[in-house]
Amino acid sequence: MPFIAEILIPLALDTPYSYVVPAGLDLAAGDVVQVPLGPREIVGVVWGLGDTAGGSNLRPVTGRLPYPPLSDPLRSLVDWIARYTLAPKGSALAMVLRLPDEAAAVETVRVAVRITGKPPARPTAARSKILAVAVDGALRGKSALAKEAGVSLSVVDGLIDDGALEAVAVEPEPVAPRPDPDFPRTPLSPAQAEAVTALVEGFPWRRGPGEETDNRPVLLEGVTGSGKTEVYFEAVAACIREGRQALILMPEIALTAQFLDRFAARFGVRPAAWHSGIGGKRRERLRLAVAEGEALVVVGARSALFLPFARLGLIVVDEEHETAYKQEDGVHYHARDMAVVRGRLEGCPVVLTSATPAIETRVNAARGRYRHVLLPERFGGRRLPDIAAIDMRLDQPERGRFLSPPLVNAVKSTLERGEQALLFLNRRGYAPLTLCRACGHRYQCKNCSTWLVEHRFRRALVCHQCGYTERRPEACTECGTFDNLTACGPGVERIAEEAAALFPDRRIVVLSSDFPGGAERLRQELDAVAAGECDVVIGTQLVAKGHNFPFLTLVGVLDADIGLTSGDPRAAERTFQLLQQVTGRAGRGEKPGRALVQTYQPDHPVIAALLSGDAERFYAEEIQAREAAGLPPFGRLAALIVSASERETAEAHGQALARAADPPDGVMVLGPAEAPLALVRGRYRFRLLVKTERNVDLQAYLRAWIARGPKVRGNVRVAIDVDPQSF
Ligand code: ADP
Ligand code: ZN
Repeated sequence: MPFIAEILIPLALDTPYSYVVPAGLDLAAGDVVQVPLGPREIVGVVWGLGDTAGGSNLRPVTGRLPYPPLSDPLRSLVDWIARYTLAPKGSALAMVLRLPDEAAAVETVRVAVRITGKPPARPTAARSKILAVAVDGALRGKSALAKEAGVSLSVVDGLIDDGALEAVAVEPEPVAPRPDPDFPRTPLSPAQAEAVTALVEGFPWRRGPGEETDNRPVLLEGVTGSGKTEVYFEAVAACIREGRQALILMPEIALTAQFLDRFAARFGVRPAAWHSGIGGKRRERLRLAVAEGEALVVVGARSALFLPFARLGLIVVDEEHETAYKQEDGVHYHARDMAVVRGRLEGCPVVLTSATPAIETRVNAARGRYRHVLLPERFGGRRLPDIAAIDMRLDQPERGRFLSPPLVNAVKSTLERGEQALLFLNRRGYAPLTLCRACGHRYQCKNCSTWLVEHRFRRALVCHQCGYTERRPEACTECGTFDNLTACGPGVERIAEEAAALFPDRRIVVLSSDFPGGAERLRQELDAVAAGECDVVIGTQLVAKGHNFPFLTLVGVLDADIGLTSGDPRAAERTFQLLQQVTGRAGRGEKPGRALVQTYQPDHPVIAALLSGDAERFYAEEIQAREAAGLPPFGRLAALIVSASERETAEAHGQALARAADPPDGVMVLGPAEAPLALVRGRYRFRLLVKTERNVDLQAYLRAWIARGPKVRGNVRVAIDVDPQSF
């Protein structure tokens, strides 16, 4: 009987495939192997081994590949994600198995060259160019040198053969320098020290045999500026003292030099950072360092959750309420929730931090499923900013303007004192809608049910959903008349224009995801703002998150009501979190801060809670409302998005699904209805919502429903989103 291996392949497949293990190949679960699949060879992972199965016509495993095997907890995580999100198991594996190309993995030394002083035997024009740019005594990379001289790499090699240049092996800069947990640091405040004790007590690796451990996830909650980062740094220090690895998850954009420097101030070196900006080779070397336990601390965006840690001892999820943690294409997962799962599978503690926790997290803490550690006050006796409302019904801006007189005055006096002001508007571009005054035509995306947003700096109309862009026309494309196109409403670019007119000599910067030059340039600009190199910042939600701007003393919220009008039951929570975060940017340095909030509904519960600072009351009311409506976390939710390139096809498939729903007691199926975004990238979308009681096995129901439901035909696609973030 042949020995059989079940190999999971990182493609959209639900189950592993069986292969024969050839004699002499000793495989273990988790090994990375190469197997034939159809006409090609592909990488897979051993998911199981056995000596049964009817395998005379099975093909053999080609061989094992020299990569670190996937640990038991990591394979369990893949199984768990597939079961929970209903994504194909192979797709979940693909998130974990991002294999390095071999060249990157083996690269351990870099070759650089230096001038020997010996003249080349055959001087040519190309060779002289190299020697002209090579500096005596200095080490230079080969390709950098060739590039600068404008000649090919072979010319450099020729000079090495000739003896005019000498090749020197250079150790690469370490991808994961070792943080020192005992690096000298500023002392903690008594409140912080108390929080550290509460945090790490119970961590399993702190306990001797027989001592009680408490490995529930911990919610570390504290107002903005309370010093949560320093507190969790101590948990990280305790973890690496034990020789274990720590993972700090952050919303992508919070990974700035500023944060890395703060880490360095505590641990002596910057941590290894894992985000979309790091290049191929460095990325792969870091992966390897993680797998070998060399990298003690990794700070990363949500995908860092799938790194193959050898000895994971702690996961921190910074700003756990952030929506950026939810991935909404491919495998739909929430990185915070998956962090809790990975922590459980690894037997390691998980710390969630926030000034404004998600309702789910708050409820988990209240019910004792999570431990709750509080830091109620700002560090160093700093006060939270005073927050006041500007009632826009009374204090109207001038016609065509968006800054009310009290806000303009506040900015003016802030600037006169040499301090920084932030104007917050959660709208990218110049204007959210363009309208022809002559014929009434509104410019809409060709592929999506969205208005095109004017981006004036780029002179374009842009769809924020699919990226479709057209030139902003001179004359209306419908009626042909000139000079009648009107920008309706403000975006950050328009506010910048207004601010430039009001404060002509000041340095004004617009910070949004449209910042020219990409994520890396944006990070640099955020660092420049933190260093005080600008006077007025105009920003979207991007500036609200986790940044520390010590010179910022005034925050002006231009339109506090934006998020409140949507029909989404999470709107109140979201708006409260965002406004609390953004106003909390003020007064984090030496000087006290204040925030002014422009609103048409100062009595709205969200605005009232923000003004009074009564977060407890807000949470209590919001939790009560969720409970009454049976919404998460008191009930469970999933969304099915049916899409197709024809509207009728999508709708018909949605209806057929609904007919097959057959919901048992405790399950409710709503829809199909047009999805909140009814047309995206040329695909029409209908949504079905499944709402169940807490104790219903939602996944089992969904699986059975999909199985008996209509066959997916043609270009129809059904995406499943368990725990949708908007509903
Ligand atoms: P949070 O993460 O809760 O918003 P931070 O950890 O960013 O708060 O701390 C707020 C500010 O207080 C930061 O500027 C930080 O450098 C400073 N701070 C916090 N703890 C200490 C400490 N123990 N010693 C000196 N400065 C501290
Ligand atoms: Zn579009």
